[in-house]
Amino acid sequence: MSDPATPSPMVEMTALNKWFGTHHVLRDITLGLAPGEKMVLCGPSGSGKSTLIRCVNGLESFQEGTLRVGPTVMDGSREALAAVRRATGMVFQHFNLFPHLTVMDNLTLGPIYTRGEPEDSAITRAKPLLERVLLTSETWKYPGQLSGGQRQRVAIARALMLEPEVMLFDEPTSALDPEMIHEVLDVMEDLAADGQSMIVVTHEMGFANRVADLVVFMDAGEIVEAAPPDAFFSAPETDRAKTFVGHIA
Ligand code: ADP
Ligand code: MG
Repeated sequence: MSDPATPSPMVEMTALNKWFGTHHVLRDITLGLAPGEKMVLCGPSGSGKSTLIRCVNGLESFQEGTLRVGPTVMDGSREALAAVRRATGMVFQHFNLFPHLTVMDNLTLGPIYTRGEPEDSAITRAKPLLERVLLTSETWKYPGQLSGGQRQRVAIARALMLEPEVMLFDEPTSALDPEMIHEVLDVMEDLAADGQSMIVVTHEMGFANRVADLVVFMDAGEIVEAAPPDAFFSAPETDRAKTFVGHIA
């Protein structure tokens, strides 16, 4: 029986394990993301952050454990995969925009072709999203005419067109020049303030501190520590997290 005061998690992983061949890359991952919650995943390179976030939208499979996204239990079926893809929006380090399409067409192509949405309806929905990411004046430009920060904001708006229940960000600012990082983080903070559920892999610890409900620190495929930012940054409990916080402070 569900208790309305404690809504069931939007994303729930239980004892999830994944191997690439013999390499055990996710070890007994148990995590829950409540509706509206923001989780920041951090940890050294190779610790499994991308693999974890890619499992959530079905880009990677796993061998053991359970994963549920909204009402969908990820059982490897085509139906579950389609449902999980619909429920999640993904923004990668590299923008993955269609270079031969305008900003507007980058936003409307998915809804038109995958959902059969009429073009005028897709355009009507795209406009406020472009305004939201401060790109109205770039609507009819091509990705090659935009800065890295602008392209990443197009990628965010494009993901939002599919009205995902959970947004997944995998190091969205790591490929950007420093002066463009804040314009992308600002858009993400605005989304967070609006109640968007999100899982963000990032090394931007200022963002984590301001936005995260929970900071999850991974190392070698394991969750080493998971705590609200105040506790995580001021008093990391493990030596591995202390070292990590020390390095980025
Ligand atoms: P992170 O995002 O934390 O840097 P990843 O999730 O990308 O870590 O990688 C975790 C581990 O899995 C690393 O050792 C990486 O080399 C390995 N790995 C990632 N993707 C693959 C793949 N497609 N095939 C084999 N090994 C992989
Ligand atoms: Mg990664």
